[in-house]
Amino acid sequence: MQLIFEKSEKGRRGIKMPDSDVPQQKIEEKYLRTEKASLPEVSELDVVRHFTNLSRLNFSVDTHFYPLGSCTMKYNPKFTEEAAAMEGFTDLHPLFPQIYSGEKLVQGALEVIYRTERLLTEITGMDEFTMQPLAGAHGEFTGLLLIDAYHRKKENKKKYVIVPDSSHGTNPASAGLLGYEIIVISTDSQGYMDMEEFKNKLNLEVAAVMLTCPNTLGLFNPRIKEITDLAHSVDALVYYDGANFNAILGKCKPGDIGFDVVHLNLHKTFATPHGGGGPGSGPVGVTKKLSPFLPVPRLAKKAKEIFELKYNYKESIGAVAPFYGNFLVILKTYAYILLLGKSGLMDVSDIAVLNANYCRSRLKKYYDFPYSKICMHECVCSALRQVKKGVRAVDIAKYLIDRGFHPPTIYFPISVKESIMIEPTETESKQTLDKFIQVMIEIARLSKSHPEKIKKAPLSTPVLRLDETKAARELNLKWEE
Ligand SMILES: *Cc1c(COP(=O)(O)O)cnc(C)c1O
Repeated sequence: MQLIFEKSEKGRRGIKMPDSDVPQQKIEEKYLRTEKASLPEVSELDVVRHFTNLSRLNFSVDTHFYPLGSCTMKYNPKFTEEAAAMEGFTDLHPLFPQIYSGEKLVQGALEVIYRTERLLTEITGMDEFTMQPLAGAHGEFTGLLLIDAYHRKKENKKKYVIVPDSSHGTNPASAGLLGYEIIVISTDSQGYMDMEEFKNKLNLEVAAVMLTCPNTLGLFNPRIKEITDLAHSVDALVYYDGANFNAILGKCKPGDIGFDVVHLNLHKTFATPHGGGGPGSGPVGVTKKLSPFLPVPRLAKKAKEIFELKYNYKESIGAVAPFYGNFLVILKTYAYILLLGKSGLMDVSDIAVLNANYCRSRLKKYYDFPYSKICMHECVCSALRQVKKGVRAVDIAKYLIDRGFHPPTIYFPISVKESIMIEPTETESKQTLDKFIQVMIEIARLSKSHPEKIKKAPLSTPVLRLDETKAARELNLKWEE
């Protein structure tokens, strides 16, 4: 079947399925071939080698350690992949419940979504969840739409969204997309959002305060309850960015510390591989005051073990995704939570925190740690000591590639100069962490004795140093020989 791209009335491009009423677009004569294409004659073996070698250029968490900070990149169990590959689930047609009034035929799938919703509600201390959003940023946008609907209903004039400067870039972007102006709060000398600045800038026109706790410095703000109370005093709602929930899983519930909205990244914390643009899921949890606005359809339990999709909610913001979210990602989450159980989920955060602190304490002799206290799931050091010999964070990142490690996040958060953010995650062994630490120590030593060796890296990659700024600004994906 052929898909035709058409411009809709609003000028957006949509996919339209051809049917007999739609005239097929013809390719103009001048673009048609007059002779056979001269395709290269290559053997099957050469083709196999070509693609196998290309696939090996991929950096994968199945083969290497990936200590990216602020974006959990852990190993995900293959068990959950098996659950998501079960035919009973993969063969379901997503239009079943709607078109064929087939709710009774998909009760199993609806039950999985329902139960996952309930589990996430329990884990986060929220009252209700929507499983629709398809990514973390999409969850943020959905959460903010709910907050927006809440203020509109009260006819409150709200203009601003507050974010700390350590927040993930998607936070201000999502708020900006909804037309809010962003108020940025700086980080204080302790690594927390500056309280004085926050109090000064908080006003009656603030719609929401978006926080990540622990923040991207890996620090849990001990004054978090005071912050949520202050926000509520001006009827601003507080948004919890729970993308990397492995930091506090089973230890603390955002609902208990005053948060009104939470999003989780199932494709970071709950067993779906993250990265490479694969399917994601960013479900959003809310407290009662926001539940009237949740997206439709909503899943309800009609009777014992009978589930139905309900659409009739007058104040709903509408649907935010096709179908009911990324069902198979939700299924993996469900399998993962059942596999680990309560104590297993608590082990996740214990080990995530232990691993980060192990890296921090072993590296602090060699690198500056501007906020060197016990951290949560990630630790942030600085290459300022190495910069004296001309070795910058980016050089360290490149050298790590040569030694078989994915670089950590660098130059973020911006409150730390030459920052290197290390998030080892709960799934790495001590042996792997030791190898990584060994290379980091080697880098610190080489930076003193032979800084040029670090600055020349990477030497093992198909392309060496790229002009990353130019590549981002002038994206040119043409293949040139
Ligand atoms: C990854 C991440 C996001 C965005 O999630 P996407 O699924 O990539 O849109 C938001 N906030 C934090 C803290 C993150 O780590």
